[in-house]
Amino acid sequence: MSNQAPLIIAIDGPAASGKSTVAKRIAAELEAVFVNSGAMYRAFTWWVLENEVDPSDPGAVVALLGKTQLESGESDRVGTVSINGKLMSRNELSEERVNSNVSAVASVPEVRERLVSEQREYAESNSVVMEGRDIGSVVFPDTPYKFYIDASPEVREQRRRAEGIEDSILARDKQDSSRKASPLVIPDDAIVVDSSHMGVDEVVGAVLMAIREKQS
Ligand code: C5P
Repeated sequence: MSNQAPLIIAIDGPAASGKSTVAKRIAAELEAVFVNSGAMYRAFTWWVLENEVDPSDPGAVVALLGKTQLESGESDRVGTVSINGKLMSRNELSEERVNSNVSAVASVPEVRERLVSEQREYAESNSVVMEGRDIGSVVFPDTPYKFYIDASPEVREQRRRAEGIEDSILARDKQDSSRKASPLVIPDDAIVVDSSHMGVDEVVGAVLMAIREKQS
């Protein structure tokens, strides 16, 4: 696969739908870079909170954005994000305060613009599997490989609880789906996979099969 033309695989879906796990596996299979675009929104939200900026004040958030150096990179084919030279850790990105404020920060159009341009850079020289909320609809609208991984609210809440993470996923979904700038939508041309009653292997298998069918 690595010798073929670069692929862009867009995987969207609501919180805790399992899209990260699936995207990671697909990326390994295709020897592509795995990018969790939510990590970028989380990183900047962490910085907003560290700076005691009110996440619900778009003007203040944009002012901080203007003073922030935000860099995306890659390590072992996994996307990384640094803020003013500090590489963000998984623990920082999943702090409870980040969970509860990220949707507000992600609703600011200027924040999205900046992060979307970082996200597009990944695909300039690599095959990429990127997961998020607007990857198929806004970041890479021209890719033929679009997936929407869903699961029932009950299953998603249960998955988060099993991870021991405090996360108000339904509130985030509501905010992410109702915002003006690039809301969470199912792109018209996306393949929808309801993973509520499927194991990870099964979802990965279905997505890979659909990619191969489109390639042939
Ligand atoms: O994927 P994850 O749940 O970590 O994303 C955290 C938050 O980042 C989402 O709830 C959403 O507000 C924002 N996000 C977004 N667009 C993306 C990815 C994430 O708005 N492409």
